Amino acid sequence: MLVERSQIPPEGLDLEVCEEPRWEGVEGLWLSLAPVQAALHLEREVNGILASGTFSTTAVVLCSRCSEQVSIPLSDSFTIVYTEAGEAFRDEEAELSTAEMDIDTMQDDRLDVTKLLRENVLLNLPLQPLCRSDCRGLCPHCGANLNEGPCRCRVQESDPRLLPLQQLL
Ligand SMILES: [Zn+2]
Ligand SMILES: [Zn+2]
Repeated sequence: MLVERSQIPPEGLDLEVCEEPRWEGVEGLWLSLAPVQAALHLEREVNGILASGTFSTTAVVLCSRCSEQVSIPLSDSFTIVYTEAGEAFRDEEAELSTAEMDIDTMQDDRLDVTKLLRENVLLNLPLQPLCRSDCRGLCPHCGANLNEGPCRCRVQESDPRLLPLQQLL
């Protein structure tokens, strides 16, 4: 979805977006991703577009420890200044006032909302997703899911001298 800068009225433009994530280059990052719901406010700037808003979606990924499927809600807010390529840091004053914001470039005076949402979803995707914070993962020897209980090799490897200690824990 593209928004022309000239389409943005002086008072700004509010958009409700529901994006089907049929994005290239992200295959394999998740098993599935729900449609991305977003509320955007766009303002026309002298040299670009100021985009702020929020998004939310749910990614189904594999737990990085036990490989079970886990649904991870993703949501965040963003404020991004889009400028024409090459305009970004020309104005020192603008650079200072936008120090708190992200800066990106647009092409032909158009904002690519699809790209904006894709980048924000990717930024919020956990690098090592967990099904739960104390996931025990898989046994490195037999591959059993240790969330479902201890496996046999663990019992065998126990040092009998440590047994009294383990009973205390
Ligand atoms: Zn897990
Ligand atoms: Zn095992």
